[in-house]
Amino acid sequence: MSTETSGIPNSPIVPTQLGLDDRFQFRCHKGIACFNKCCGNIDIMLTPYDIVRLKNRFGMTAREFIDAYTVDFAMDGHGTPGLKLRTREGSTACINLTPEGCGVYSDRPAACRYYALGLVSMRRKDSPVEEDSYFVVKEHHCLGHYEPHVQTIRDYRREQGVDVYDEINHQWRHIILKKRSSGPTIGKPSRRSLELFFLASYDIDGFREFVASPGFDEVFDLEPACKHELMQDEVKLLKFGFRLLKQVLFGEVTIPLKPGARERRIERYRQRKALSSPGKAEELANAQDKLYESLGE
Ligand code: SF4
Ligand code: SF4
Repeated sequence: MSTETSGIPNSPIVPTQLGLDDRFQFRCHKGIACFNKCCGNIDIMLTPYDIVRLKNRFGMTAREFIDAYTVDFAMDGHGTPGLKLRTREGSTACINLTPEGCGVYSDRPAACRYYALGLVSMRRKDSPVEEDSYFVVKEHHCLGHYEPHVQTIRDYRREQGVDVYDEINHQWRHIILKKRSSGPTIGKPSRRSLELFFLASYDIDGFREFVASPGFDEVFDLEPACKHELMQDEVKLLKFGFRLLKQVLFGEVTIPLKPGARERRIERYRQRKALSSPGKAEELANAQDKLYESLGE
């Protein structure tokens, strides 16, 4: 089972784009002869909401879950951090696989729910929104394609609980897509902005502490009730994190800043002996990713 697509010969991807009301033949169930085969050779990229669901299932902090259950990879040439689900020691099988099937079934990641479908999101040149289409992944070991059960993509997504995951991860996927499609035009993100990407995308407990910190309050103007809600609700906090990432990475300002925050930052940069010229301090303060740097101080 893989979350990646390719155009290589012998690819298991059936090259027909499908929409939500198109139908396809597939059924997976416990009695099928290939049961568990797909989880024996995995390549699964995790989304932010996958991590929230799994770390809560295990009663861990996000950081503990990341250390025990994931491996790092770079999502692009800029080193944007990604996480994949870990395999068993010395094996290609998923760490969650048991002889009875998936050990985390009701909290399995979005990629596992999608299988045997793949998703392609594309934005046309003249369109502000991306469009989703689907394709069938037909791997030779998977006998589910020969089961006499036909359904629409829409029904399959609903049955697998994909809709909930996609709704929560929607803005995050948009960030990844925008980063890829804008390529060098937005420049190489700083180390700090990649750290923020990791924190807001994967380490929800660390991100909560960050939003609760006095440094955050110094810069952002959040209503106390809104902040309280973010502290209580992990899904709202995730979505807030995606807004913050869009603000820092692309300058899409949706989170109000406290009046004078920028000036205070400039002053702080000025006071650092290393930055002798006032012009340099202003330039630094203008850089969006320095917003985050100022919070870490
Ligand atoms: S999380 Fe469950 S469904 Fe997904 S690969 Fe692992 S065992 Fe299979
Ligand atoms: S039918 Fe396909 S998805 Fe289901 S267990 Fe078999 S290989 Fe896995």
